[in-house]
Amino acid sequence: MKLFDKEQEASKPSYDEVKAIASKCTKCDLSKGRTNVVFGNGSVPCKLMLIGEGPGEQEDLKGLPFIGRAGQLLTKIFESVGIDREKEVYITNIVKCRPPENRAPLAPETEACYPYLETQIKLVAPKIILLAGSPSTKVVLKNDEAISKIRGKWFKLPGTDISVMPLFHPSYLLRNPSKEKGSPKWLSWQDMQEVKHALDYLNEIEKLAGGAK
Ligand code: URA
Ligand code: SF4
Repeated sequence: MKLFDKEQEASKPSYDEVKAIASKCTKCDLSKGRTNVVFGNGSVPCKLMLIGEGPGEQEDLKGLPFIGRAGQLLTKIFESVGIDREKEVYITNIVKCRPPENRAPLAPETEACYPYLETQIKLVAPKIILLAGSPSTKVVLKNDEAISKIRGKWFKLPGTDISVMPLFHPSYLLRNPSKEKGSPKWLSWQDMQEVKHALDYLNEIEKLAGGAK
């Protein structure tokens, strides 16, 4: 992985420059059906980053990630553990253009789009990455295990010290609304509490380090 390649450091483009390049991208066929490129949204840098699958209808129309029904549920899940999505999470997807009929992105599309994601990870410099659903888990962690088996577990982004946790995709939770103990929604809430603890810990360490200066 070229993520922290020293040679690239000198010519590192800014976030806005990369976003501007992506906004005109035609590297894969998804460019043909899109209204807007949905690059990502949130503070840069940001300790917490979430990577989803691809823009849906609303996202394509507005150019922002996770603003439709699944996005609203995602916002609520973050809120339920005291994480302010707007201020504390940088959100993007493995493909920046909407796949037709919301189908899963194909390998040539995720491969064509991956360099943008790599650059975003470099510039956002997260300490924690959340992967919503199995397509993003496959692409980022190269892990093909069922999401039901690996959600809620911590991994490392290969070649880095970034902690990564796969989660159920909020669209899956919309289709499985039960909140009973052991249900996907209940499990997701446990996972998000764990993420909140990890984030609190990082903030605490940062405060202590700041105080020691
Ligand atoms: N689902 C995703 O995976 N990403 C979005 O941006 C919206 C819905
Ligand atoms: Fe370019 Fe990614 Fe859009 Fe494909 S999905 S056209 S690679 S920005």
